[in-house]
Amino acid sequence: MNSYDLVVIGGGPAGLIGAAETASFGRSVALVNAEKTLGGAGVNTGTMPSKTLRETALALSGAKSRKLYGVDLSLRREATVTDFLRHEQNVKAGFNAMIDQRVASQKIDFCYGSGVFRDSHTVAVGNATVRGEKILVATGSSPRRPTLFPFGQPHVYDSDTILNLDRLPRRLAVVGAGVIGSEYACTFAALGVEVHLVDGRDVLLPFLDGEASQALSDAMQRNGIVFHRNERVLECAAGNEGDRIALKLASGGVLSTDAVLVAAGRKSNTERLNLRAAGVAIGEHGLIPVDEHYRTSAPDIYAAGDVIGFPALASTSMEQARRAVRHALGLPMGSEFPRLLPTGIYTIPEISMAGETEESLKKQGVKYFVGRARYEDSARGRIIGDTDGFLKLLFRCADRKLMGVLVLGEGATELVHIGLMAMLAGGTDAIFEEACFNLPTLADLYKFAARDAWLHERGIGPDEPSQGEHRANAVER
Ligand SMILES: Cc1cc2nc3c(=O)[nH]c(=O)nc-3n(C[C@H](O)[C@H](O)[C@H](O)COP(=O)(O)OP(=O)(O)OC[C@H]3O[C@@H](n4cnc5c(N)ncnc54)[C@H](O)[C@@H]3O)c2cc1C
Repeated sequence: MNSYDLVVIGGGPAGLIGAAETASFGRSVALVNAEKTLGGAGVNTGTMPSKTLRETALALSGAKSRKLYGVDLSLRREATVTDFLRHEQNVKAGFNAMIDQRVASQKIDFCYGSGVFRDSHTVAVGNATVRGEKILVATGSSPRRPTLFPFGQPHVYDSDTILNLDRLPRRLAVVGAGVIGSEYACTFAALGVEVHLVDGRDVLLPFLDGEASQALSDAMQRNGIVFHRNERVLECAAGNEGDRIALKLASGGVLSTDAVLVAAGRKSNTERLNLRAAGVAIGEHGLIPVDEHYRTSAPDIYAAGDVIGFPALASTSMEQARRAVRHALGLPMGSEFPRLLPTGIYTIPEISMAGETEESLKKQGVKYFVGRARYEDSARGRIIGDTDGFLKLLFRCADRKLMGVLVLGEGATELVHIGLMAMLAGGTDAIFEEACFNLPTLADLYKFAARDAWLHERGIGPDEPSQGEHRANAVER
């Protein structure tokens, strides 16, 4: 049996970073992964594929050129599924090769197979066993598959199997308007597919700033997505004549489509780990509870990434794993876990936010003032023709500090980082006044929004009803 300073179970974003961090300090590490291909959902089925398909959909559909120039500059309007999936497969293959090369060069011992705990220091992988002074569990999550959907039937997909699509549907039902469902709904709608988005709630992505949720919902409907709100699927009949899928809805109707994508949330991959043998407690929905250092109930076993639950993002999973490993191996920690975690949602248009929202500030009783800039107000916004986009900044009245940033529109997930860094540095509206940004850029919107906030705070801004509303809504701390 080989012994290591750390054994990592799971080779997704969290596990890979955990192993790399260990190796970079000259400690020995084994990485156990159930699949030969490393990268987990982050690289193989989730983050990267879905974002690549979104880019492909935008490019193939010629959506942008139609909007900007009134002409279709796409090669073909009738993209085939091969066209659609080609770039995703290339990006994935390139990334997989890079990961393999990094793992080899970092002298991480890769053990292919499912890891099963024998005890709190020993993991069986097939017929072999590895021993770790410490162990990091980073086994991620998988799509939840409600039993009412016949997943064995053709054209009944989840977010993993949608990547094996064999033809582009003309009509697609997406069940579940969470982040994954909403993103895929937008991607397919951009390709010209008639998308029906079925969800039990009446508000889209309710954790978002209310204004952003409404603006996104409006934009998605303009892009042709049909919303079925406060709705539930009672039955799904697949394998019918002409390969049609019939969804019986709680409201009484039947939705007939060519394909259905079920995006009903994810479940933690803990079932087959035999955590009991290691003394690791399991929480609700199979999630592993951890303390602030990502340590489980077993003192030498840590857990990070989707397997511990919210926020279950590739970005946060990696940072959790880095911190878990540092604590486990007694390595220097640096600062606290960044208290500002950005949220990026790759719908069309994309949305990103960091820090507080108006709703959360109101809840805390913090008095704030708002600054906004529409993409169309800036030179760059006009050039790229983004008519939906806007940036919104929230400043605390007491000290003028930036408390929250929200961006909706092209490049939102990049643009948010300017606000994020300003917040980490404790910046006020003055930081944007003082800064000189390249022109024409979307970054310039920060200057517009900060100026807008300054004007409105003094009651001399343009007379926009929404601004008055926000002043009226602001409350004393
Ligand atoms: C469609 C989709 C889109 C997404 N988009 C984004 C996005 O835009 N931005 C973002 O930040 N996040 C996004 N995410 C979330 C992101 O993919 C996950 O948060 C991230 O992959 C979690 O990383 P992880 O290492 O915890 O787990 P995973 O990536 O799930 O990797 C876990 C690995 O462990 C392996 N494993 C499981 N059980 C065992 C076992 N017993 N033994 C050995 N190996 C095992 C699995 O095979 C897998 O390789 C998206 C997810 C999906 C599904």
